[in-house]
Amino acid sequence: MKSDIRMCSAWRDAHDRPVYTLSDSCPDCGADAVNSAPAPFNPGDPHGEYRRALKRRNR
Ligand SMILES: [Zn+2]
Repeated sequence: MKSDIRMCSAWRDAHDRPVYTLSDSCPDCGADAVNSAPAPFNPGDPHGEYRRALKRRNR
């Protein structure tokens, strides 16, 4: 059985950890909630690493 659990698509911006929800939007920040299976933030994605580095610098 497939899971309907979604996660906040902007959790890296808005939260310290992934936020999971069953609805279409994040209950916390209102961002789109996306299916958690195809992770939008691939740890092996060099651009993702770049984004994270940028984020750390902006804090
Ligand atoms: Zn959120």
